[in-house]
Amino acid sequence: MVEALNYLASNILVDVDPMFKKQPICELCDQKPATTIVGYRSATGPTVSGWKYACGSCPTTPDEAKSFGFDDLFANPSATVSMLANLEDAGTTDWHSFMAMMQRLRSATNG
Ligand SMILES: [Zn+2]
Repeated sequence: MVEALNYLASNILVDVDPMFKKQPICELCDQKPATTIVGYRSATGPTVSGWKYACGSCPTTPDEAKSFGFDDLFANPSATVSMLANLEDAGTTDWHSFMAMMQRLRSATNG
C-alpha cells in the first residue's frame, strides 16, 4: 500500500498540470515562488505601473495599488479575459509596464 502511494505521489500527483513549465520566483524578494501580480500607484497620478510578479508574502507598501493571484487571473480563459478587461475599464493601467512584466514572466517560466 505504501509503495502504491509513493508511486502515485512521485509519478502522478506531482505532475498534475502545473500552471507553468518552470516556477517563477518573486521579483521582490528573489527567493519565494511567485503567486501574485502587483501594480504600484504612480507618484504623479492614478496610473498603476511598475507591475511585478511576487510571492504574496513580501510586505506590502503604501504605493501598492492592485494585486491579484495567478490562481484568479489564470483560473480559466473567461477569468483572464474578465480581469484584463476590468483593468482596461479602470483606465489607469500602464499597459507598457504590465506587458513588460508579462514578458519577464514568460521568460521566467520558459513560456
Ligand atoms: Zn517575495
